[in-house]
Amino acid sequence: MKDLNIITEQTIALPETPYQARHYINGAYLDSADGQVSDRMSPSHGVLVSQAALGSVIETEAAIGAARAAFDDGRWSRLSGKDRAAVLNKVADLIEAHEERLALIETLESGKPISQARGECGGAADLWRYAASLARTSHGESHNALGDDMLGVVIKEPIGVVSIITPWNFPFWILSQKLPFALAAGCTCVVKPSEMTPSTTAMLGEFLTEAGLPEGVCNIVLGYGDPVGSLMSTHADVDMVSFTGSTAVGKRISKAASDTLKKVALELGGKNPQVIFPDANLESAADAVTFGVYFNVGQCCNSSSRIIVHEDIADAFVNRVVEMSRHVAFGNPLNPDTQVGAIVTAEHQAKIDAYVSDAKEAGAEICIGGGSLQVAEIGSQFYQPTVVRGVTPDMAIVREEVFGPVLVVQTFKTMDEVIALTNDSDYGLSAGVWSENVHTCLEFSRRAQAGTIWTNTWMDGFPELAFGGVKQSGQGREIGQYGYDEFLEVKSLVMRVGDTRAPWVKMP
Ligand code: NAD
Repeated sequence: MKDLNIITEQTIALPETPYQARHYINGAYLDSADGQVSDRMSPSHGVLVSQAALGSVIETEAAIGAARAAFDDGRWSRLSGKDRAAVLNKVADLIEAHEERLALIETLESGKPISQARGECGGAADLWRYAASLARTSHGESHNALGDDMLGVVIKEPIGVVSIITPWNFPFWILSQKLPFALAAGCTCVVKPSEMTPSTTAMLGEFLTEAGLPEGVCNIVLGYGDPVGSLMSTHADVDMVSFTGSTAVGKRISKAASDTLKKVALELGGKNPQVIFPDANLESAADAVTFGVYFNVGQCCNSSSRIIVHEDIADAFVNRVVEMSRHVAFGNPLNPDTQVGAIVTAEHQAKIDAYVSDAKEAGAEICIGGGSLQVAEIGSQFYQPTVVRGVTPDMAIVREEVFGPVLVVQTFKTMDEVIALTNDSDYGLSAGVWSENVHTCLEFSRRAQAGTIWTNTWMDGFPELAFGGVKQSGQGREIGQYGYDEFLEVKSLVMRVGDTRAPWVKMP
C-alpha cells in the first residue's frame, strides 16, 4: 500500500555472528547433554540471529535440583533483605550498561522496533531496583491481644523454588516482572524463556554472576514447553509456577501443577476495549487507540484490540483512527524511527490474516489494511495496520486475541450497553475509558471487569501498582507489593510469654 508510512532505511548494523545462547545452571553456562540446538531466524531480516541450546529432561532436572539445594541450605533466603537488595541493584546497573546489546538481539529475535526493545530492556532495570527495595519489606504482623500470656506473630517467608515460564512478546520485561521479585523474597528459581526469544534471558546469566548472585539461586533452561516447561510445572521439588503466556497453555499448566498442589500464578491473554464517550478529548483518544493497537506490532497482552465508541461520534472517530494509522511508521525494526515492526513468525502472520478474512467473509467492513505487507529489502513478514467495522459480538475477531495490528470497532448508546459489551468477554485483563466527566469515568471503572482500568490514557504502567487479570486473563498479581507477596508464604508463630501452660493430662 503506497499510502502507508513505510520505513525501509536501516541505521543500525546487524550483528556479525549469531548469539550462542546456553543454559545457565548452578552459576555456569552449559550446552545440552545431547548437543541439541535450535536456530532462530530474524522475522524481519531473514538472518540467523541466535543458536540456542535445546533443553531436555536432563537439564531441567539439573536446574530444579540446583534451585532446590540452593533454597534448602539457605544460601540466599537467610541473607538479610539488605544484602539481597545489593545484588539486585547491581543486576539493574548491568542491565542498563548492556541495554544496547540486549535491545539489538530482542529486536532481531522478535521483530519489534529497536526503540521499543530499548525501552523494554533498559526500562526493566527499574523493575529490578523496585524489587530490590521490597526485599527489605518482608514484615508480617504481631498480635498482642491473644490474652495476657500469649504473643502471636505472623511472619512472611519465601515460598521456595519458583518455576518462571515466559512468552516471546516481551521476553526481558516479563522476566523482570517476575524474577527480581521472587529473588527479593528469598526464593530460588528456574527460568524458561520462549524457544523463539531465548537470548536476552540467557544473557542475564552473565549479569547474575557478575553481580554476585550465589550459584544455583537462579537457573535458566532453554527449550520447548514440552519437555522443559511441563517438567517445571509438575516436578515435586518446585513450590510455585509463575507463568505468562496464552490462556490455553495457562490452563494446561494449572492442571499439571494440581497433582502436587503447587501455587500457580497466571498472566494470560486479553481482549481489551478502549471505550470512547462523546465528551472525550477525541484527538487524544484516537492517538491512544492507535498506540494501543499497533504498539509491539499488536502482539501485546494489553493491546486495545477493540474499541467501543459512542454511536454519535463513531464515524468521525474511526475516520481519525484510520487517518492516524496511515502515519504510523511501519517497517525496518533497525531504524529508531520505526514504530511497528515485523510479525514474530509466518505461521502467526497467517493466523492474523485468517481472523481478518473470516470477518470480511462474514460481512465486516475493512476500513484500512486487511492483508500482509511487503517491506522492500527486508521481507514480507509484516501486516498492514487494519481497522475492521461492522462486526457482531459473536465473531472470532471480536472475542479472541488476534495478537496483531488489527482493531475492531463496536458501538454503543448507553452506559448499560457499553458495560455489557465490555464485560461480554472470557477475558478481563484491562480496559480504558475516555470522557471528561469524572462520574462517567468512575462508573465505568467500577463496573468494568478487568484487572486494570485506564482513564484518559492507555498502557501507563508503574512498578508500584499491581498487574494482572480477572476471568480467563489470569490469577494472582505481579509487581508492586501485591506481586511481591505472591512469592511469600505466611507462617504463624504462637508464643507463650506468661505462666506455665495449664496441663492437659491429669496426672495422679
Ligand atoms: P504460549 O502460551 O504459547 O507460550 C508461553 C510459554 O509457555 C513459552 O515459554 C512456551 O514454551 C511455554 N509452554 C508451552 N507449552 C507449555 C507447557 N505445556 N507447559 C509449560 N510451558 C509451556 O504464549 P506465547 O505465544 O509465547 O505468548 C503470547 C501469549 O502470551 C498471548 O496470549 C498473550 O496475551 C500472553 N501474554 C500475557 C501477558 C500478561 O501479562 N497477561 C503478557 C504477555 C503475553
